[in-house]
Amino acid sequence: PTLRPAPRPEDAEDTNRALRPQTLGDFIGQAEARANLRIFIESARKRGEAMDHVLFHGPPGLGKTTLAQIMARELGVNFRMTSGPVLAKAGDLAAILTNLEANDVLFIDEIHRLNPVVEEVLYPALEDFELDLVIGEGPAARTVRIELQPFTLVGATTRLGLLTTPLRDRFGIPVRLQFYSVDELHEIVTKNAIKLGAPADTDGAREIAKRARGTPRIAGRLLRRVVDFAVVEGDGRITRDLADNALTRLGVDHLGLDGADRRYLGLMAEHYGGGPVGIETLSAALSESRDALEEVIEPFLLQQGLIQRTPRGRMLGQIAWRHLGLTAPAPQQR
Ligand code: ADP
Repeated sequence: PTLRPAPRPEDAEDTNRALRPQTLGDFIGQAEARANLRIFIESARKRGEAMDHVLFHGPPGLGKTTLAQIMARELGVNFRMTSGPVLAKAGDLAAILTNLEANDVLFIDEIHRLNPVVEEVLYPALEDFELDLVIGEGPAARTVRIELQPFTLVGATTRLGLLTTPLRDRFGIPVRLQFYSVDELHEIVTKNAIKLGAPADTDGAREIAKRARGTPRIAGRLLRRVVDFAVVEGDGRITRDLADNALTRLGVDHLGLDGADRRYLGLMAEHYGGGPVGIETLSAALSESRDALEEVIEPFLLQQGLIQRTPRGRMLGQIAWRHLGLTAPAPQQR
């Protein structure tokens, strides 16, 4: 569970302990996205207008929520947060929209999970800052139009493909977030270790960064656990040996893979000769939902070249065979 990038209650600690970057300048990584956002924020501020709607997409834990909060702070407006599944009825969305002040940022997480009825209400709100609400029922029903303050919608999704085209088209600024490099995570871990009162030496921070799957949320979690070991079994400092030892005991291997990842790769190697294997087959064999595989496990394995996606299914990469300590079958035998 340490390595699953979905949010967990313990992650709230980050906000409490001010580990979350507060400004664009503090935010490490995502250089291209940051440079562009800086311009759009500056321009909206100078014009005194609401910034255009932004859609963040990419795997969980890469900083979508954090960037949305930073945007609001830098724009000097309020930040309101909700999520697709929470907005069950049109009225839920209307209540939020009518309470926004001019140019506020409304963040909708998991926007691919919006109820279609709510989505319909959202369109005119995004385009013309107007709401068309149906009041009453049956023959007495009538539509009222409500004028809204201009606002910026920031949508976040881990599944761009599940967004309807009309919704996607309404975002003027789509931003794809990338996995972080080891150097970027190294910088984040070093900063946060100091804030947590357990400074890490260069190799110690690097060890955590290398094993965090390119994901700041995971780096934060691994760091907190390593800090526990440093406090209890060490002298409160994070060294490479201490980090290595702690992470190995947590079941996190040198590539940052955990038991579930190794089960996935092991199954492909041992039962399917390295593939190609269909996603449904893998899902059934591993008793993991297809969504969990596609959203949580596979993105990092793909990015690392441990697996490849082909039209016929998933294939194990050379690196994965080596990592498992196995030999790939000769091509003609596949
Ligand atoms: P998402 O919304 O994409 O799932 P979050 O914005 O909630 O991700 O970020 C997950 C965690 O990672 C938060 O605790 C946040 O503080 C941390 N984080 C994300 N991006 C960065 C970054 N660039 N630098 C430092 N910490 C970050």
